[in-house]
This record gives sequence, structure tokens and C-alpha cells, in this order.
Amino acid sequence: MQNQENEPTPESIEISDEQMQSMWAEAKASMSAHSWIQRGTEVVCDSCPFKHSFYLEPGSILKGVDEKGLPIIDKISY
Ligand SMILES: [Zn+2]
Repeated sequence: MQNQENEPTPESIEISDEQMQSMWAEAKASMSAHSWIQRGTEVVCDSCPFKHSFYLEPGSILKGVDEKGLPIIDKISY
């Protein structure tokens, strides 16, 4: 199987399920007490040293932040 060594594969950037889980847990926990700003269809946190963001569903806007610091998403009605 010499080909395996010669063909570049993106396997080196694979993230394990465990890492993925903890990243999601962090992301969810960090949904509160942040400064969310909308950039196009993306909602970006402006208060953390690292960038984290999520995408809005089509037809949705970031309305604001509630008292817990959670982003308030509202539907646009045309
Ligand atoms: Zn943040």
C-alpha cells in the first residue's frame, strides 16, 4: 500500500468526537453573557478573546440579548 503515503489526506485535521463534544459544550455554555452582534447572516460574539459565532436561519435576525445574555432571535416577516 504505497499509495497511502503519497496521497495527501486531510486526516491530520480530524477532530475526535470527544473534542467535538467538549467544543460544543463550551460553545453552548458560552451562549450566555456575551456581546452578540450581527454580521450579515452571522451572529458573532464581540466580547471574547476568541471568535465564536453561529449562523442565523434564513429570515431571522438578531433582535438583542436577554437578561441572561442569551441572543434573542426573531423572525422577519415580509
Ligand atoms: Zn463570547
